[in-house]
Amino acid sequence: MTDMLLPTTDTTPSSLPLVGKRALVTGGASGIGAAVARTLADRGAHVVIADMDNDGAAKLADELNGSSWTVNLLDPDAVTDRALASAMDGVDILVNNAGIQKISPIESFDPADFRRILTLMLEVPFLLVRAALPGMYASGFGRIINISSVHGLRASPFKSAYVTAKHGLEGLSKVTALEGGEHGVTSNCVNPGYVRTPLVEKQIADQALVHGIPESDVLSKIMLTESAIKRLVEPHEVASLVAWLASPDAAMVTGASYTMDGGWSAR
Ligand code: NAD
Repeated sequence: MTDMLLPTTDTTPSSLPLVGKRALVTGGASGIGAAVARTLADRGAHVVIADMDNDGAAKLADELNGSSWTVNLLDPDAVTDRALASAMDGVDILVNNAGIQKISPIESFDPADFRRILTLMLEVPFLLVRAALPGMYASGFGRIINISSVHGLRASPFKSAYVTAKHGLEGLSKVTALEGGEHGVTSNCVNPGYVRTPLVEKQIADQALVHGIPESDVLSKIMLTESAIKRLVEPHEVASLVAWLASPDAAMVTGASYTMDGGWSAR
């Protein structure tokens, strides 16, 4: 038997598999990010909640005995090399989650909104990964988990910026996986369908307007048409998949994209 065939990492399961790990979750004050922060803390990690919502981030950090980083990730001064080197110091698990949405046909899509979405949801994850990798490489362990979407794999009309950003994130995640493999760093995407969060609640009115239908029809006529299971995903369900990807059990999972979309992408 060669050394290549011998196990080199401890894959022993434990109820607290993330003890001693530091996780940073962008957009961690609300929705999926907050559920992820809670679940990672439950599994033993120290969680840093990075969000522009100062009060929300501080309150959740308090509840989880974690810490908060109040940051507008769209502010160029907040994402300088120096600021990010400090923010990423000691981070073992990076969850790129902060995101926004804008619904509009391409011909009237404001280019400034397009750029804003691409910056927050693609360029910022690149900058954070770039800042996190040196420390992860030095420790020989790292988990990059990108909250993509079914829209990283499928398109919908009126979401040009969002779909473009998420497809780009899929590419970034795969390149990170290839470069990080030999350093003990994995990179994966999680691809939910519609999740019960404030982002989706805000979208219902916009979808009604752009499709010319009542708000009460948006779930059945727009959001759940492609799914085999006709309900929204719950944030804790997404968080459970993220926590597994962060755990030692998932050491051999990298460059992958895990759908949790009720069967939407099976079509
Ligand atoms: P949400 O609106 O509930 O939470 C987003 C969080 O990001 C908020 O706390 C907000 O303050 C923070 N944020 C936004 N802009 C920021 C900025 N510039 N700097 C720092 N923080 C900022 O959203 P959510 O539904 O939980 O979505 C989280 C992620 O999940 C997004 O990337 C989204 O694309 C993805 N996603 C959501 C769904 C869904 O149906 N909700 C489905 C698939 C993927």
